[in-house]
Amino acid sequence: MSLYLGLDFGTSGARSLVLDRSGTIHFQANYPFTNCSSVAEWQTALMSLIEQIPQPLRSQICAIAIDGTSSTVLLCNSDGQPVAEPILYNDARAIVVLDQVRAIVPPNHTVLSATSSFAKLIWSSQQPDFSSVRYFLHQADWLAFLLHGQLGISDYHNSLKLGYDVERLCYPDWIEALPFRDLLPRVVAPGTPIAEIDSTIADQVGLPRNCIVCAGTTDSIAAFLASGVKTPGEAVTSLGSTLVLKLVSQTRVEDSRYGIYSHRLGDLWLVGGASNTGGAVLRHFFSDAELADLSQQIPVHQESPLNYYPLLRPGDRFPVNDPHLLPWLEPRPDDRGAFLHGLLESIARIEAEGYRLLQSSGANELKRVYTAGGGAVNQPWSVIRERHLKVPVRRSRQTEAAYGTAQLAMPSSNLIPKLTA
Ligand code: ADP
Repeated sequence: MSLYLGLDFGTSGARSLVLDRSGTIHFQANYPFTNCSSVAEWQTALMSLIEQIPQPLRSQICAIAIDGTSSTVLLCNSDGQPVAEPILYNDARAIVVLDQVRAIVPPNHTVLSATSSFAKLIWSSQQPDFSSVRYFLHQADWLAFLLHGQLGISDYHNSLKLGYDVERLCYPDWIEALPFRDLLPRVVAPGTPIAEIDSTIADQVGLPRNCIVCAGTTDSIAAFLASGVKTPGEAVTSLGSTLVLKLVSQTRVEDSRYGIYSHRLGDLWLVGGASNTGGAVLRHFFSDAELADLSQQIPVHQESPLNYYPLLRPGDRFPVNDPHLLPWLEPRPDDRGAFLHGLLESIARIEAEGYRLLQSSGANELKRVYTAGGGAVNQPWSVIRERHLKVPVRRSRQTEAAYGTAQLAMPSSNLIPKLTA
């Protein structure tokens, strides 16, 4: 049997998942990080996750893909050794070079943020150890290198925030003109077979020598891919700590005012936006058990009159772009069920407003919403959301990023609609 291995490097740990072509999961495992910025620990996690796979399954793995957190980057020397600690996805040290970034890139470009890979590149270029750097890589690129031994290769999901032009499939002129342009990776489509695994590594970890290592993706796109959604008008809402919307569209939409940007999905686009509201606010007031219990008692067909903007701290970008927007959680009824009803109803209103904004900005008309994240289990909430969204709301069958990444490793999995060109 041919098996496919997906490795997901998320914010708090790494996971593995072994899949066959029919979508059956044969094995999965977890590796929680003690220090998520230690490349030594990433490497240990990678090898340990592979070695945990029972040998009879391991020997049947014919392809591997890896996803990593978007905009987690590292600078490597000519041997692929990191010359400094990686700069993590949420590290905003590059805020000090944002004016310089603004002077290089076109107005309102996606990379105009202190946490973008491009801003991190500009910041890094001004550090003393930069002269020894030969490769600027994303987390997923570097981890794949550990397996296939090829340096300087990335995919167009990880490279979006580096400024790669995912429409024309090339680096734009303003990147080509950089004096350190040579450090940037060659970019291929996610899932592209790169090379057979290095034979020494293969023997060391018990993988077949002809196992192919494929180009990866980012952790959030991998979680989207797991849902299997790929038809224009279908969307995935992630109800995790925050509220993240992703809508499959024939049109690309970019609007940095609202943090709306599009990932390429073959010949389609994945238009997304993220709000700071979501499960973190629910968790602030309710335990998960209480959420499950109280939700069952909510009269879901009745609209709650409570109209909140649930935030833990001021500021949101999507669908309301106001860095000073105040959390709005008043009036608070004594009845905790009524309070929860108001919160769920208000988050559902914000979600619906988000999809309206994506559509009015040019994305396809919303037809169906799948749900991932901790809130996906809440059936009463789905009924409330369906009332606002006015389209069917379903739970995603699969939500594990590692599942999407394992699928990415399958040849002609049709996961990413093929380029028609
Ligand atoms: P993260 O974005 O941190 O990975 P998860 O996808 O693990 O988040 O989801 C965790 C969130 O799910 C928590 O913030 C929690 O409040 C929320 N959650 C858990 N159970 C429920 C439930 N039954 N209804 C709504 N939200 C829930």
